[in-house]
Amino acid sequence: MKAKVDQDICIGCGLCESICPEIFSLNDDGVAQAVEEEIGEDLLESATEARDSCPVECINIE
Ligand code: SF4
Repeated sequence: MKAKVDQDICIGCGLCESICPEIFSLNDDGVAQAVEEEIGEDLLESATEARDSCPVECINIE
């Protein structure tokens, strides 16, 4: 499973980063980015919570 952020939709609220900083971070443009690597089992729950919490639903995990 990998996470992806649609940066055209992201509003840079920072919620995903605060929930799961191991996977999500705001970049220099003020929008979120996800790490390229596979999400480890230990982080899947918090990454999924971040996805579900995104106010504009621009995080995809698959
Ligand atoms: S929670 Fe959604 S809108 Fe907010 S920074 Fe993360 S990806 Fe962007």
